[in-house]
Amino acid sequence: MTLPHAIVETPVFMPVGTAGSVKAVPQHLLEELDARIILGNTYHLYLRPGHELIRRMGGLHRFMSWPRAILTDSGGFQVFSLNELRKVTEDGVEFRSHLDGSTHFFSPEHSMDVQIALGSDIAMAFDECTEYPADYGRARKSLDLTLKWAARSKEHFERHKHERPWRQGVGCRGEGTEPTQPNRALEWGAVDFEGKVPSLFGIVQGGMYKDLRRESAERLVEMDFPGYAIGGLSVGEPRELTREVIAETLPLLPADKPRYVMGVGYPDEIVEYAAMGVDMMDCVLPTRAARHGLLFTSEGRLNIKNKKFAEDEGPADPNCDCLVCRRYSRAYLRHLMAAQEPLSAVLNTVHNLAFYLETMRKVREGIEAVGAA
Ligand SMILES: [Zn+2]
Repeated sequence: MTLPHAIVETPVFMPVGTAGSVKAVPQHLLEELDARIILGNTYHLYLRPGHELIRRMGGLHRFMSWPRAILTDSGGFQVFSLNELRKVTEDGVEFRSHLDGSTHFFSPEHSMDVQIALGSDIAMAFDECTEYPADYGRARKSLDLTLKWAARSKEHFERHKHERPWRQGVGCRGEGTEPTQPNRALEWGAVDFEGKVPSLFGIVQGGMYKDLRRESAERLVEMDFPGYAIGGLSVGEPRELTREVIAETLPLLPADKPRYVMGVGYPDEIVEYAAMGVDMMDCVLPTRAARHGLLFTSEGRLNIKNKKFAEDEGPADPNCDCLVCRRYSRAYLRHLMAAQEPLSAVLNTVHNLAFYLETMRKVREGIEAVGAA
């Protein structure tokens, strides 16, 4: 994918940076891990610090000093997770902030305005994430709403996408510049954004019903988005069903455009889905699990809190070449966790992300090898 801020090779795993930060990992380490694209959550950034503030700061890239690509969700998923704090109408969703209880309204148009103000490379259409389980009538109604909202999202986005906050010639700190003086932080890189605009992806919904998924996919393809997501998965359904819906829906989406499955998954799942033809995935799992001491390794999952690691001098994963595994022992990682040291979250997360990103790198390598053969 050639995006305004990066060329991204697919299949790709995208670390989740909820509130303008991939929790516990500074941006220079994300660069070192070779993350090319991260997620930002529209709902969280809209509430705090506010999209207008971020626009004034030159957009999310410059605000958080992340020169590579950013994908923003539509805010829909978070808003719909609020349950009793929301009210859905054809026009949009009224919801109460989880921070202070204040009332807000998101429509497809407003979601586009917020995502454009944030300056994302890839924005997502405003959709209703159908809950699980949902009966057929409910999934049908939800799908109809999502299709109407997709059309409104696209229309508004096309009219306003040029209002993205990236300034001509101004990139992020350090980007494209050599550290010529100690206060390098004051230098801003020069980047050519001439003619570069963000893209908007459509989202397939339809609950767990094949015919609804088909209709959703076909109608979105008619609207002609540059990329498509399969949403409404990982909402509590059994893993078999997730796989089934992906397998049913993927062939209905153009193979020459990015196909993105939102909110998945475990390391073996992202490999499996990539093999099925999925190009993009994101999940809070590697970052969230890390903060709870769960490490993903080539030998399976490992709970670093376990007493058996107390004097284990080996690395978290003997087959991992990440900066954590090269330097720190399981014993030390376990101690940090027990002592509730903030560094624990940093090191655990860096390893888990390294493992996920490396897993996908190997998948890409495998695809290249097959292509070359
Ligand atoms: Zn590692």
